[in-house]
Amino acid sequence: MARAVTPRPKEPKEPKQAKEPKQAKEPKQAKDPKKPKEPAPVAFCSFCRRPDTEVKRLVAGPGVYICDGCVALCAELVGTGRVGPRRGEAGGGRPRRAPWEQDLGPEEVLAWLPQVAAAAGQVEENLAGWVGKARALGVTWARIGEALGMTRQSAWERFSGEG
Ligand SMILES: [Zn+2]
Repeated sequence: MARAVTPRPKEPKEPKQAKEPKQAKEPKQAKDPKKPKEPAPVAFCSFCRRPDTEVKRLVAGPGVYICDGCVALCAELVGTGRVGPRRGEAGGGRPRRAPWEQDLGPEEVLAWLPQVAAAAGQVEENLAGWVGKARALGVTWARIGEALGMTRQSAWERFSGEG
C-alpha cells in the first residue's frame, strides 16, 4: 500500500509566481489527509519503544530514555524483590550473566534483535546529535575525537557526513 506520492506540479498562472517555492509547497501539505497534525516524536523509550508523544514522561540518560510506565514497572520489580537476590543476600553473588547468555529459545532471542537494534540506532542518532551540537558550538574535530577516544580523522569520518 505504501507508495511514493508525486505531487503534480501546479501550472503557473504567471511566470513570476512559479519562481516562488513557498507558494508551491504549502498547498501540498494541506491537501495530504494522512499527514498527522501532532508533532513528530523526538525520542522513544529505550525499553518499550513508545514515543515521547504517547507517554507522560520520558526521562533522558546518555543516549537512552525511559518512560514513566517502564519506571513504574521497574519500581514494582525492585520493590517486590522479583529481580532476585542482591549481592551479599542469600542466593546472591551467583556468577552474573549477560541477558543473551540466559536460557532463551530462538523466538525469544529473535524478538530481542529488533529491540536492541532500535535502541542502538537511537543511541547512535543521539551521539550524532551531541557531536553536531559540539560542532555548532565551535568545538574542533580533534577535541571531539579526543573525548570519544578516537582520532580527529575518525571522528570526522564518522560524524561529519562528508567522509
Ligand atoms: Zn517505556
